[in-house]
Amino acid sequence: MQTIVIVGGGAGGLELAASLGSRLGKKKQAKIILVDRNPNHIWKPLLHEVATGSLDMSIDGVSYRAHSGQHHYQFQLGTMTGLDAADKQIHLAAVDDEYGVQVLPERSISYDTLIMAVGSVSNDFGTPGVAEHSYFLDSHQQAERFQRGLLNSFMRVNQQGRKRSFGWQSWVAEPPVLSLLQS
Ligand SMILES: Cc1cc2nc3c(=O)[nH]c(=O)nc-3n(C[C@H](O)[C@H](O)[C@H](O)COP(=O)(O)OP(=O)(O)OC[C@H]3O[C@@H](n4cnc5c(N)ncnc54)[C@H](O)[C@@H]3O)c2cc1C
Repeated sequence: MQTIVIVGGGAGGLELAASLGSRLGKKKQAKIILVDRNPNHIWKPLLHEVATGSLDMSIDGVSYRAHSGQHHYQFQLGTMTGLDAADKQIHLAAVDDEYGVQVLPERSISYDTLIMAVGSVSNDFGTPGVAEHSYFLDSHQQAERFQRGLLNSFMRVNQQGRKRSFGWQSWVAEPPVLSLLQS
């Protein structure tokens, strides 16, 4: 049975894994393996809702593990770090928990067909200061970082006893949080 490995469970990879799983995996005509560095999928256009706190990743995200069971593919958690095209293998980094304790070791996965669906990320085109002073919105980790920064800014303003309403001054201002000034 041939093994089809899809790296990246974003908008494209997840759709493909579900489709191939339902068409081939279910009938045992092929083994479909989806690899992603995150355990949960969130559709990128919803990241601004994670950033503003109106969407909770742990509730509203799609668990790859649960989704894979329903759609007849296998899921492997891990970041792809290398490709051995001659041996038809990809390499995944070890997965550690938040305390640095290893959850999964480094692994290699063999494939007959490999599909790369790792998407893209924002480009600052080397503009000085952008990387240091901006929030990017390419992943749920970045969206959650924005939300923490936003809440901290509100707390800072509140602690200073400002009573009047305030407005956004800039998205690219005082590092590392948004600059919220009194209107
Ligand atoms: C804030 C925002 C708003 C957007 N709004 C819209 C919109 O309104 N309408 C629209 O049509 N499009 C929108 N887009 C664009 C759309 O989200 C992308 O075009 C789409 O997500 C691309 O799909 P993809 O599968 O190619 O990659 P992605 O969805 O980016 O998925 C890539 C996946 O690969 C995984 N990955 C990456 N590297 C590795 C690795 N080394 N190992 C393992 N896994 C890896 C990532 O974790 C991710 O799950 C928006 C994008 C953003 C960032």
